[in-house]
Amino acid sequence: MDHRDRPEGLAHCVLCDRPQRTEFPDYCAGCGGPVVLPPAPVALPATTESTGAWRYAGRLPISQETAWLSMGEGQTPLVSATSTRAWCATERLRYKLDHLNPSGSFKDRATAVGIAQAITQGAPAVVCASSGNAAGSTAAYAARAGLPSVVLVPEAVPPGKAAVAQAHGATVLRVRGDYSNSFQVARELAARLGWLNLTTTFVNPVAVSGLRSAGYELAEQLSEVPDWIVVPIGSGPLVHGIVTAYQELRAAGMHTELPRILGVQAHGCAPIVDAFDRDVERVTPWPTVSTRISAISDPLRGYPSDGTYTLRLVRETRGAMVAVRDAEAEEAAEALARDEGLLIESGAAANLAAVRTARDRGWIHQDELVVCMLTGHGIKTLAAAGRQEAPLVANTDDVIGQLPAHTTKAPEDLNDRVKR
Ligand SMILES: *Cc1c(COP(=O)(O)O)cnc(C)c1O
Ligand SMILES: [Zn+2]
Repeated sequence: MDHRDRPEGLAHCVLCDRPQRTEFPDYCAGCGGPVVLPPAPVALPATTESTGAWRYAGRLPISQETAWLSMGEGQTPLVSATSTRAWCATERLRYKLDHLNPSGSFKDRATAVGIAQAITQGAPAVVCASSGNAAGSTAAYAARAGLPSVVLVPEAVPPGKAAVAQAHGATVLRVRGDYSNSFQVARELAARLGWLNLTTTFVNPVAVSGLRSAGYELAEQLSEVPDWIVVPIGSGPLVHGIVTAYQELRAAGMHTELPRILGVQAHGCAPIVDAFDRDVERVTPWPTVSTRISAISDPLRGYPSDGTYTLRLVRETRGAMVAVRDAEAEEAAEALARDEGLLIESGAAANLAAVRTARDRGWIHQDELVVCMLTGHGIKTLAAAGRQEAPLVANTDDVIGQLPAHTTKAPEDLNDRVKR
C-alpha cells in the first residue's frame, strides 16, 4: 500500500501497540505512551523532484498539494571535521549541518510536515511548546501557511529564540517554570480550542515522522552505515526519526546494520542518561532543571514514557547515553566556531563533548565513522555569550595597534603563513 493512502488509524502506541488516530494528536488514550507512524513500506529510492520534506513525499505523510509550504528544510550538507577531530580524539568525524535549516534548527524537518497536516485538516491555528527552536520553526512555517500560531516557552527561554518567533508574528508567551509546564499548557490549549499541536515531543506522530528525512539523507550521503550517530536528546523524536529511517532501509535490503546512537543530555537535566546508567527500563522525570543548555533541557514531567521509548531505541541500536556539563558544551561550541567556522548552539555542540567522553570510556574507537548531528544554529543565543563590545577605532593606525603581532608582518611573510 502506498504510504500516502494509509488510513489515519494506523498510527500506534509504541508501548501497548494500540492503534491511534492522528487528527487530534495526543498520547495513547490507553497507557499514555508515545504514538508513532509505522515505518514506510516503500523501497528506495522514493525521492521526488520537489524540494525539502516533499522530496520524500513518497515516504512521509504529505502530498504534493502542500509542496508550496516548503522552505527547503532538510537536504543539509554532511562535511568532514578538520581541527575539531583532535578535540574529540577521533579520526573519522563528520558533521551534519542541520543548523542550516530555514529557521536554524532541525525542527523544520518536523514542522514542515506538521504544518502540511494543519493545512490539509483545515486546523484554525497551531500551538507548540518549545525550549526555543520549535518556537521559531512553528512561527516561520505558520507565517508561510497564513495560519495563526501560539508558542509557549519556558520562562528562562533564551531571548534570541523568543525574538525569532515574535519576528514571524507568533503570539509568544513564557509559561512559568520549566519546559514541562509549557508542554502541559500547549496540550490543554490544543484540546480546548481544537488547534493542531506541533510540540516536538512525541505528541504529534505526523510531525515527528518528518524527522525521518535526516536518516534518509545520511544514507544517501554516506556509502556506509556510520558506526555512531551522535544526537542531542530532549525527549528523543530525532533519535526515532533516524533509527526508523535506517530500519526502513534495512527492511528494504539496503544494508544489515543499524548505526549506534550516542544520545546526549545536559548534566543538569538528564533523565534518560540516568535510566541508562542505572540499567533500568523506565525513565523517570527529572526533579529540578539546572543547566544553561536550553535546547535539551526537558525534564519529561507528565510524559516520561517518551524517555522510556527513546532509551529503548538507543539500546536497540547497541548505543549509549552520555551527560555533558554546561562548561564542556560551551567549550565545544567555542571550538566549533573558532576552529571550524561553524556557529553552533551549545545544545548541539554538546555532541562533541559526548564523543570525547565516549572515547575516554572506550565506547567509541578512534577509527570509527562518527556523525554528529549539529541540530541548532548558534546565532540565536550569541548575544547571551557575554562577549566584549568590539573595540572602537578611528583610523588605520588604531587598527594596526589592535592586531595580533604575527598578522602585521610584511606581505611576503604573511603569504607563507596562509593555509593551503
Ligand atoms: C529540540 C532540540 C534538540 C532535542 O531534540 P528532540 O528530538 O526533541 O529530543 C536538540 N538540539 C536542538 C538544537 C534542539 O532545538
Ligand atoms: Zn499505549
